[in-house]
Amino acid sequence: MKIELLPSSVPVSDVQYLTTYLINDEIAIDCGSLGLLADLERQKRVKHIFITHEHIDHIATLPLVLSNSFEPGVDCVEVLAMPDVLQFLRNDIFNGRVWPDFFNPTLTHEPMVRVTPLELFKPIRRCNVTITPVPVSHGVPSIGFIVEDAASAVVFPSDTGPTEAIWSHAAKTNNLKAVFLEASFPEKLIDLALVCGHLCPSTFAIETRKITTPVRWMVVHRKPSDSDQVAKELESLGIAGIEMVRCGVPYWF
Ligand SMILES: [Zn+2]
Ligand SMILES: [Zn+2]
Repeated sequence: MKIELLPSSVPVSDVQYLTTYLINDEIAIDCGSLGLLADLERQKRVKHIFITHEHIDHIATLPLVLSNSFEPGVDCVEVLAMPDVLQFLRNDIFNGRVWPDFFNPTLTHEPMVRVTPLELFKPIRRCNVTITPVPVSHGVPSIGFIVEDAASAVVFPSDTGPTEAIWSHAAKTNNLKAVFLEASFPEKLIDLALVCGHLCPSTFAIETRKITTPVRWMVVHRKPSDSDQVAKELESLGIAGIEMVRCGVPYWF
């Protein structure tokens, strides 16, 4: 399985302002930075966009991507999310003011988006991978995903504070290879992290102990202004298998 955290800055750097993962160049998890890809053909290859929650760093370029990818007669993009997030997108983004109502099938002769509501713990299969939505513990209702192909399983808890369900579900998953886990804040902001449902280095370390098999712990979602500090604090904790994820670099599992 090929996974890439897309860059959110030009020139490309590892500072992460927005979140989109590409899975095998065909599936996106979140749509923060997908619409910033300079290569329009790469944007258009993505036909399935899974959304974890409605925070702006995870949906910022969704309206642009749906516009960029639309071509009459070509299969439209599918957006997959929990029903409350789909409702939010329709009410507050694709509402005819912020952006045209692409969700309205009568807007054009051909559909501009296909919408699929997700159900917690119910696996869904697209492009030869199986994706299972699992709840996590963030400031708003949020889900993470467990993504599996024939050889590997990779966990994307998305934005989360200390949580449980995704770890118990991951522990039952075969071929678990990696977790892309957030570490948003440095240790000095632990209270803020707990209040808004994020991790800092010490709580990140506690979460890693909830998986007992060896996996690669891929660190993402470091707040840009404290990114170096978070990396330094995490590295001092001696967590096995930890690495800072580079933006725009493919990882294979
Ligand atoms: Zn969030
Ligand atoms: Zn976020």
